[in-house]
Amino acid sequence: MNRLADEIIEGRRLTEEEDLSILLKADLKELCKGADKIRKALCGHKADLCSIINGRSGRCSENCKFCAQSSHNSTDCEVYGFLEKDILLKECGHALQQGISRYSIVTAGRSMEGEDLEKAIEAYQSMHKAYPDMILCASHGLVKENDLKRLHEAGVTMYHTNVETSERFFPEICTTHTYADKLEEIRLARNAGLEVCSGGIFGMGENWQDRLDMAALLARFKVSSIPLNFLIPIKGTPLENNEPLTQEEILRIVAIFRYLNPTAFIRIAAGRNYFDNSGKALFCAGANAVLTGDMLTTTGSKTAQDRQMLAEIGYTFA
Ligand code: SF4
Repeated sequence: MNRLADEIIEGRRLTEEEDLSILLKADLKELCKGADKIRKALCGHKADLCSIINGRSGRCSENCKFCAQSSHNSTDCEVYGFLEKDILLKECGHALQQGISRYSIVTAGRSMEGEDLEKAIEAYQSMHKAYPDMILCASHGLVKENDLKRLHEAGVTMYHTNVETSERFFPEICTTHTYADKLEEIRLARNAGLEVCSGGIFGMGENWQDRLDMAALLARFKVSSIPLNFLIPIKGTPLENNEPLTQEEILRIVAIFRYLNPTAFIRIAAGRNYFDNSGKALFCAGANAVLTGDMLTTTGSKTAQDRQMLAEIGYTFA
């Protein structure tokens, strides 16, 4: 694996056209060592910390099987409309104080338009003005190109839209929108001048080929930030009884994403609870970015603890 890591550092890029099974068969320790080497050589030592706020929660029309906020699932998730600007602004300032460099409003729902879109634009404008050092990201579903442009003008620089899994497996997870809708949204965000953050969730029943295909697709689309979530089964969703992935499986997924996406932010989102020490091992296996604080509907880890853990393994901060 050391040789493959060196080749990637020198410019080789893996694609779905080649046999990627070496990544599945390799000794896990060696695979992670190679991924860490690629990360250090091509991304350096800066860790990227981001934080999200659930700006509009629950009652979503879509039927994503993993999600607590889908109206098709019977969970006890909180339900509320678009948050007041003052709350969004206050939380943004709090995140900056904690040393978090990116902040995103995330909203439940197929898309966002009308009054809520206007409120979001106003909130982004205010945050951009009050905290110009904070990098603003947005995640509002399948938003139209012109509205994406308006978000960009309001100060948003990156748009988040997860592909969730592979194209083959996606219809097993959601049928109210398609994989093609997701890829089109990536294209629209780019057209609007936004960078793209897109990843997915593992442990939903997909196989290793799905994971390789998803990593290769995100490489082909040159996605600059890839959030990786490891399913925390939620009671009341169709995936509530899914067996959690093992630590070995999670580490292999993280390392594979680094080999295929050598210069991207490989961002660990939900699922660090499956590891000790805030998931330290993941940041020695190719990951270099983290969603810190609370997740949308599950509890995350404390930012100060994350910064300390990352500093211990040689990371610096933006
Ligand atoms: S993942 Fe998003 S689109 Fe899917 S059900 Fe949840 S909130 Fe709705």
